[in-house]
Amino acid sequence: MDPWKYSFTVGDFKCLAINDGYYPYERPAKLLFPAASPENLKTELKRFNIQLNRWEQWLGPYNCLFVDTGLNKVLVDTGMGPGGDSSKGQGRLLAGLAEEGIAPGDIETVIISHAHPDHLCGNILADGQLAFPGASFIFWKEEWEFWTTSRAEEELPGKFKRNLLSCARQQLPPLAERVRLMEREEEIVPGIKALAAPGHTPGLMVAAIASGGEQVFCVSDLLIHPLHVEYPEWYSAIDIDPEQNIASRRRILRKALVEKALLFGFHFPFPGLGRVSGDQNKWHWKPVE
Ligand SMILES: [Zn+2]
Repeated sequence: MDPWKYSFTVGDFKCLAINDGYYPYERPAKLLFPAASPENLKTELKRFNIQLNRWEQWLGPYNCLFVDTGLNKVLVDTGMGPGGDSSKGQGRLLAGLAEEGIAPGDIETVIISHAHPDHLCGNILADGQLAFPGASFIFWKEEWEFWTTSRAEEELPGKFKRNLLSCARQQLPPLAERVRLMEREEEIVPGIKALAAPGHTPGLMVAAIASGGEQVFCVSDLLIHPLHVEYPEWYSAIDIDPEQNIASRRRILRKALVEKALLFGFHFPFPGLGRVSGDQNKWHWKPVE
């Protein structure tokens, strides 16, 4: 299997997962699982061949998703773009699309799950032009308003503030004329619906892609690591409202279980796809082989 591109179908829709590189996150247990009991975490991480006391770095993948519904060509999240670290594969989304015969101008709809740099920074080229010049840009309304008003400055914790703000301030203003803001859980284009999943950020959006009785939820950073599926109460250190995020996780996981939806995780091991099993309150994760 090609290690950074993966084609699959959802009913009649053609999908292409493209890995836009990765980032080596330091002190991963503190970042991903600050609320986990060390004993419990130690046991669970063994399933991923990780020894907790030696876990110094997590290579977090950045998985973007292209969907051709037949009627619309859609991209979910845009990776790090030209400002990314190419030695880690960041910024190769455009090259990956080109290799599959997809030109930037072909993309009609860009869905941004939330305005963190790894999801947003691929929208503006080094020369300041739009990377996807023919697209409309879809955000959940609260997300757009959080980052384009004084709220982000006031409410972001100090630790990550500078980085997060500089990306949003560079990327968002040029999109303003072509933005479409979602306020309800309704279709973005036929077959792709916006689901509200606030908590990681104030307006994180899950894109639900459905065709022919099959469904995939692009969960983005609602769930950053597969263990978050099994322990939704293990919020991450970068969730702006942990309690709200836990509630969103439970709601979306229940929905995925009932509707038999696959999950596509932006930071899950490539290609990021897997299935949820279990009952209404305890979930298990099984990656697609
Ligand atoms: Zn992310």
